Amino acid sequence: MTETSSRADGARVLADLNALRAIGTYKTGVHKPTFSDAHLQSLQWLAARLPDAQLAATTDGIGNVFGTSAKPGPKLLAGSHLESQNHAGWLDGPLGVIYALEAARVLNGAPDIPGAVEVASWCDEEGHFGSFLGSRSYVGALTETDIDAARDRTADRSMRQALEDAGLAGRARLVAERGRHIGYLEAHIEQGEHLETSGLKIGIVTSIVGIWQYRIVFTGEQNHAGTTRMAIRKDAGLALAKFCVAIDEAFPKLCGVRTVWTTGRITLDPGAPSIIPGRAEMLFQIRDDNPAVIERLEAELRRMAADVTAQGRIGIAVERIRTGAPAMMDSAFQDTIEAASRTCAGGRSVRMPSAAGHDAQVLSTIMPAAMLFVPSIGGISHHWTENTADADIVTGAEVFVETCARLLKRAGAPAT
Ligand SMILES: [Zn+2]
Repeated sequence: MTETSSRADGARVLADLNALRAIGTYKTGVHKPTFSDAHLQSLQWLAARLPDAQLAATTDGIGNVFGTSAKPGPKLLAGSHLESQNHAGWLDGPLGVIYALEAARVLNGAPDIPGAVEVASWCDEEGHFGSFLGSRSYVGALTETDIDAARDRTADRSMRQALEDAGLAGRARLVAERGRHIGYLEAHIEQGEHLETSGLKIGIVTSIVGIWQYRIVFTGEQNHAGTTRMAIRKDAGLALAKFCVAIDEAFPKLCGVRTVWTTGRITLDPGAPSIIPGRAEMLFQIRDDNPAVIERLEAELRRMAADVTAQGRIGIAVERIRTGAPAMMDSAFQDTIEAASRTCAGGRSVRMPSAAGHDAQVLSTIMPAAMLFVPSIGGISHHWTENTADADIVTGAEVFVETCARLLKRAGAPAT
């Protein structure tokens, strides 16, 4: 396959990203919660630019923005999101949207490219109101009841009210036309430091890790913190603390290279200074891209809990409350990103799983999906200091456009 003559315009990509950073600026980052004025302005900004890429703009009833092409031939869907976490970075989301826009601008009018890149900005990837509401709506996995139940986690506003305030209430939600797209491609900042520390420019995502979550409940005996002798206490809080330490000692012997685990919330009951906690609860999460590793760790967790319970003083119950199978990225798309990286990034790419969730995992349920990462300076994200070197942003855009060109050419080539 020959290299396309069409290339990303790096200066234009940087100018667009900075234009989006100028909407809802917070220090060097942005503050754009879902359906805030800054987010809505960003959506309008995108919609106004889609015609430059020969795309018709639609904002649908869940706040997704689409650029749709009337050109015959294969269609590749590309995009990401425009809202941010609170007081967060300027690239988490917009990078993928602007790369998609740039690919559409470069390729949709190119005579040697069959078909077109279509652009999507998925609403609420950052989960202010729910979990992947925009992309789930598009794949048909979001009900009206789900929308009724969705509320802003930090501001007291329902999703219905937010849609009403944004002028989107009553609009139809656009649902994927099955078979329309050859697949979905999303670019994102890595949000980790692997690429930077390895001197690499492109991460080719192999899978998006699954998240398994557990509620672990410790039952002891509530009693007076002054009069109860240490020897006879059944302190559920202390048992919880010891259990956390025991996990940290046991898991490294059984985990995979990239397994991570976190105790994100601890509750002591009744939670008073002069009362020995009779009950304690922790929410515990494990992430990995290999279910076999998780099975091993979960078995260990249950064995440790049973051991403590068998000693008779404290009872520990482990309940799995979320099972997240990893989303596998399409292998042919991965090969294409790798080939494009050889052309545009000197082959400085690596295949790696994504430890963070992305809309691509939702899209992968209905079409081939793939992702590429660019380096994050210091691995920082979800913070206003998040950044990527301009040169790396430009290299990423070139690899992205080249990948789109190759995917469309391959899909549009006559069968041999
Ligand atoms: Zn993101």
